[in-house]
Amino acid sequence: MSKNVVIIGGGPAGISAALYTARAGIDTLVIENGARALEKAEKIENYYGFENGISGKELYESGLLQAKNVGVKTVTAEVVGLSFEDKFRVTTTAGEYLADSVIIATGASRNKPKIENIDKFEGSGISYCAVCDGFFFRGKDVAVLGSGEYAMHEASVLLPFAASVTVLTDGSDLSASLPDGIKVNTSKIKAASGETVLEKVVFEDNRALDISGLFIALGTAGGADIAKKIGVITNGNSVVVNEDMATNIPGIFAAGDATGGILQIAKAVYQGMLSGFSAIKF
Ligand SMILES: Cc1cc2nc3c(=O)[nH]c(=O)nc-3n(C[C@H](O)[C@H](O)[C@H](O)COP(=O)(O)OP(=O)(O)OC[C@H]3O[C@@H](n4cnc5c(N)ncnc54)[C@H](O)[C@@H]3O)c2cc1C
Repeated sequence: MSKNVVIIGGGPAGISAALYTARAGIDTLVIENGARALEKAEKIENYYGFENGISGKELYESGLLQAKNVGVKTVTAEVVGLSFEDKFRVTTTAGEYLADSVIIATGASRNKPKIENIDKFEGSGISYCAVCDGFFFRGKDVAVLGSGEYAMHEASVLLPFAASVTVLTDGSDLSASLPDGIKVNTSKIKAASGETVLEKVVFEDNRALDISGLFIALGTAGGADIAKKIGVITNGNSVVVNEDMATNIPGIFAAGDATGGILQIAKAVYQGMLSGFSAIKF
């Protein structure tokens, strides 16, 4: 049976990988949800081949078209989970996709909240991965910080373990529907608080919510968030890769801004190519 690859990300890294895998005859699907870094890049003058520069948006759009022209399939959706059962299973807001290999090309993520004491309780009550740490909070009251699809996914993962799950939006409106059995609190948060481990979240009006666990799921899941769900080693917000763009989990590769280091298109394209080669070999 023919093998397939799912590439998470439609920026320079993901598209570069897709061009190599698709042209090598591998069934290639790119899942992405918009231009990200390139959206903000008004004029790019340091990338090969554009005598007057090019806008990030134009580069992103023509990259997607170029990939479609060589047979790459694309889906616009948000990836919220990654697991393995016989094959890799990529969970998105538009359903699940099975894959023989996965390339994480999600760009850089900066989804750390500006809440007092977040660093202090990391690993002693504050987590960035429900599927990794949810079990430690069985029978306890927990909360998820976030307001979109990713936060709802994390809350649903916690529901079977926890005594209660509350989504804390920190002043934002919910942008996804709340699953059954999950509470919501939209108050602005001041601080995480506790003696040695997390005991509560204190709101700006000085009310507090007693919780043992707080799971951070702001915005869209970043590369490191997705990687952690399947045991890929990360370093801060970056996915750790070797010189072939392979992670510690056979069949999972990463490329571009998601791997940290130099955040430039040329590097993303180069790493995308390497990750494509590695996926082909795998
Ligand atoms: C303002 C600005 C100006 C810049 N100017 C330059 C420049 O002049 N020259 C230069 O070389 N570089 C520049 N850069 C950097 C450059 O844009 C990045 O290095 C490059 O885009 C990285 O490519 P990437 O494919 O790794 O990630 P990105 O381009 O960020 O693409 C990430 C992709 O992943 C998708 N994605 C992420 N998370 C998910 C998820 N959970 N589910 C589904 N899809 C997801 C996004 O939708 C997107 O398609 C600039 C960046 C910024 C912000």
